[in-house]
Amino acid sequence: MPFKLFDIGANLTHKSFENDFEEVIKRSFLNGVSNICITGCDLTDSRRALSLAKKFPNNLISTCGIHPHYADSFSEKSEKEIQEICNDSLVKAIGETGLDFNRNYSDKKNQIKSFLAHIKLANSLNLPMFLHQRDAHEDFIDCLNKETPRTKCVVHCFTGEKKELFNYLDRDFYIGLTGWICDPKRGSHLEELIPLIPLNRLLIETDSPYLLPKNLKVKGKRNEPAFLNEILKKVMSERKESEKKITEMLSKNSLSFFNLQQ
Ligand SMILES: [Zn+2]
Repeated sequence: MPFKLFDIGANLTHKSFENDFEEVIKRSFLNGVSNICITGCDLTDSRRALSLAKKFPNNLISTCGIHPHYADSFSEKSEKEIQEICNDSLVKAIGETGLDFNRNYSDKKNQIKSFLAHIKLANSLNLPMFLHQRDAHEDFIDCLNKETPRTKCVVHCFTGEKKELFNYLDRDFYIGLTGWICDPKRGSHLEELIPLIPLNRLLIETDSPYLLPKNLKVKGKRNEPAFLNEILKKVMSERKESEKKITEMLSKNSLSFFNLQQ
């Protein structure tokens, strides 16, 4: 493989990976995806993400946090537990955290409270943040103004409009692109935004098992890190830089974002 890709966000704790986790990882290697960050969406899940990362400690890392969907479960006890999980050196980011007012699985006030606490924790632990925002841009920015992250941040699975993109870039945030950009129905508005993202702020992710790239003809609906190439191809088709330049920068950005050795 001519390049080493980094899938910065995959939900490999999902039950659909229960039976073939190791094959999924090996298949990703065969497809040039050498590194994966496994995201945690609550504390039990974050522990599980870490234990999966430990199976391939040279290639996998994990995040620790409570997804806005589960923010109702956040309590003062959670802060201590997050700190404890983050003691392991394979935990490289705080998240997923943020706001999701699309489905409101958790109370809005609880989402905001949990998000603010996560920012504080990331600052005190000096860990980058893996952020999720859906239909909550104004409140999301309010939170960032109230409690400003002092570490690197990525807005994962960016699907927003130009104004949101520039709000994030103004804050020097990284932008995570998923298979959403390969979806001609939901993602076509992103085509003109892809070239506007400074190359040194761009990251790619599969968000597996969700968001299987629409152009991919595979059995079933499960997405997996091996399919990260489809997102790379779409990014390349929308940008002017060479394949070499883009893949080199994506790899450099990922390592730098997670504070890994280059
Ligand atoms: Zn998310």
